[in-house]
Amino acid sequence: MTLKTLPGHELTVLPRHPDGTPCAHELTEHGKALEAGCTGREDYVGVCACAQWWETDEVHGLLDARHARHLRELAGGES
Ligand SMILES: [Zn+2]
Ligand SMILES: [Zn+2]
Repeated sequence: MTLKTLPGHELTVLPRHPDGTPCAHELTEHGKALEAGCTGREDYVGVCACAQWWETDEVHGLLDARHARHLRELAGGES
């Protein structure tokens, strides 16, 4: 069973600075800071719209995979 989205369970992934604050700045293609006040991108936080699920990881794609698992658990608990 492959579920990409469920109503009310949309995934939002936000980049974060090393101190955990959200980074909405322009970065170089290597993730380095371009703007004053930006300390660079440390990791990502993925938050589900249901607010019951969130995780952090340095790799954007892993959050997608873990969120897919969250959807599978909601859909029937198969592991
Ligand atoms: Zn959810
Ligand atoms: Zn930033």
